[in-house]
Order: sequence, then C-alpha cells, then structure tokens
Amino acid sequence: MVDDGQLTGQIITATAAVIEGHKDYLTKLDQTIGDGDHGINMSRGFTALAEKKDELSALAFDEACKKAGMALVMTVGGASGPLFGSALMAFGKGRSAMPSNAADLGAMLQDGVDAIKSRGKSDIGAKTMLDVLVPVTEALKSGASLEDVRRVTKEAVEATKAIEATKGRAAFLGARSIGHIDPGAQTVSLLINSIADVLEQNQ
Ligand code: ADP
Ligand code: MG
Repeated sequence: MVDDGQLTGQIITATAAVIEGHKDYLTKLDQTIGDGDHGINMSRGFTALAEKKDELSALAFDEACKKAGMALVMTVGGASGPLFGSALMAFGKGRSAMPSNAADLGAMLQDGVDAIKSRGKSDIGAKTMLDVLVPVTEALKSGASLEDVRRVTKEAVEATKAIEATKGRAAFLGARSIGHIDPGAQTVSLLINSIADVLEQNQ
C-alpha cells in the first residue's frame, strides 16, 4: 500500500505530464471559443506543482491541497486559475487524509464543485468545467467504479459541444459556441483520467 505522500507525488507527476502532453490541444480548443491561452495557463500551473512535488508530498493532505491550490491561483491566471485553485483548496478543508472510497471522493469533489460555483457565479449548463465535474461528482457519490467514472467523463465532455456558453469568454460567441468542446471541461477530463490511472496502478 502506498501512503498519501507517495500517492500525492504520483498524482502530481501524472497530471503534470498529461497537461503538458495536451497543452497545444487545450490551447486549440480555447482558440476556437475563447482567447487561446488555456493550454498555456494550465501548463504553467502544473509545471509549478511538479516543481513543488517533494514539498507537497511531505505535507498532510489538507496542507498539501491548500498549498497546491494557492500555487494554481498564483500561476495559472485566466478565469480557470482561481477556479481550479479554489476547488483544490476546498478539497483539503477538514480532510487530514486523502479519501479512499467512491463516496468520500464524491463528497470531496462536491466541496470543490461548490467552491467553483460560488467563485465563478456559475452552475451546470453554462458550458464550463462544471459540466464534467458535476456528473462525475454525482456518479462517485452513488458509488461509481473508476470505469464508470471514465465513461461518465467521456460522455460529459462530448455533451459540452451541444451547450451554448453563458459563462466565461465563450459566452461572447453566444450560439456560435455550439458545436465545440469546452476547454476547461476537456482539462477536467484529462485530470480525472490520469488520476484514475494512478489509482488503478495502486489497486
Ligand atoms: P480565460 O477564459 O480567462 O482565458 P482559461 O482559458 O484558462 O481562462 O479557462 C477557460 C475555461 O474556464 C473555460 O473553458 C471554462 O471551462 C472555465 N470557466 C470560465 N468561466 C467560468 C465560470 N464562471 N465558472 C466555471 N468555469 C468557468
Ligand atoms: Mg482562455
């Protein structure tokens, strides 16, 4: 069994790699319905986390989430930096250890979703990261397996195409935002799948 510190280290390495590997793709998605910086923003944030990997892995879960969240707020920029950052800080609040079952993971994600909704003054249906995070949270709360989570994630990202954006820069396009994947939703999907990979490797 790996401990929380080792798991934190593996998650940082895996998520930073997947963001780096999809930097140009995420930027391309954002060029289509935003301002074309999303991949660059996320890459800056996850590079900062990778640089802090040893420091973060040595901390208790709540402290690690707080520090990592603050690092994202300070480095990612754009709308997504404060949103991802406050979600991460909310994950840690009141949790001295990483959740180890679906229901507890779901409860943790719910805290992150609430933080994003309040910070972004947004909800599902606005073509944002929430359109993937919320269905995944609901699935986990009802005990979904990692396989279910991957399926729900894939379907939710695809479903962002059909939504007309009402939040974020894509909202300026109105109906012209329809037909395109939301970049933030795609990022959430990449993160969820890479974390699922790590969890499966440790099962
Ligand atoms: P910016 O839009 O400032 O250039 P990014 O390109 O890094 O920032 O991030 C854009 C992503 O942020 C969108 O694809 C969307 O998923 C998410 N987003 C934007 N505004 C909101 C909001 N109010 N609530 C939730 N998510 C949002
Ligand atoms: Mg952008």
